[in-house]
Amino acid sequence: MESKFKLAVFDMDGTVIDGRLIEVVSKKFGICDKVKQIQSDSSISGYIKTQKIASILKGIDEMEIMFALESIPLMKNCHEVISLLKKKGYKLGIITDSYSIAAKILVNKLNLDFFAANDLKISGGIITGEINMPLGWEKINCYCKISVCKRYHLEFYAKKYDVDIKNTLAIGDTKGDICMINHAGTGIAFMPKDDYIRKSKNIINRPDLLDIMNYIKKT
Ligand SMILES: [Zn+2]
Repeated sequence: MESKFKLAVFDMDGTVIDGRLIEVVSKKFGICDKVKQIQSDSSISGYIKTQKIASILKGIDEMEIMFALESIPLMKNCHEVISLLKKKGYKLGIITDSYSIAAKILVNKLNLDFFAANDLKISGGIITGEINMPLGWEKINCYCKISVCKRYHLEFYAKKYDVDIKNTLAIGDTKGDICMINHAGTGIAFMPKDDYIRKSKNIINRPDLLDIMNYIKKT
C-alpha cells in the first residue's frame, strides 16, 4: 500500500527566504571578507568550511541570528505554495546547511513538519564557535561532503513518513542542493546561483515559489 503522504523538501537560503542568513550576519559584524574567503576555498570540503565559518561567529549573541533572519523576507508566495502542497498531502520541511536556530523559527512560522540544519553551540546566549553538523554523506557515500547532506536527509524523511522516493519533491538554488535535487522524484533548481545547479532538468528562473506547482501533477 502506498503511503498517504508525499514529501516536499526546501532549501532555506535563496529558496524559502529571499536572501542568505550568513551574508546578513557577516555584513553586520564586518566579517564578510573572511566568510567569502572560506566559502570560495575549493581546497577544503564543504563541512570544513561550515566549521571555519562557525569559528569566526564566536562571541556573537545568538539573538543576532534571529534579528538577521527577521530582516530577510520570505520568498514570494512561500505561504501559498506551502498551503497548496499541504492540501495535496505533502509533508514539508527545510533541509539547510545554515543554522537550526533559524530553520526552527521558519518551521514554526510556516507550520512545516521538520527541519535538518547545523547546531551552533551556544553558551549563556553567546555563540561559542563550535558547531554540531548532521552530515550524512558518510553514511550513503555521497560526493557532496557538506555539513548537511541534502540527499541523506531527503531519504531519511522519506523513510520516516513512508514516502516512496518517486513521490518526493526537492527545491534548492546552489551546488549543495544538487545531490538532493538529482535524487528526488522531482528536483527543481530555483533561481540557480551557480553553473553546477544550472544544469538541472527543471529550472525556475523567476523568484516566485508558486511556479513549483507547474511541476506537480494536477490530480
Ligand atoms: Zn549529499
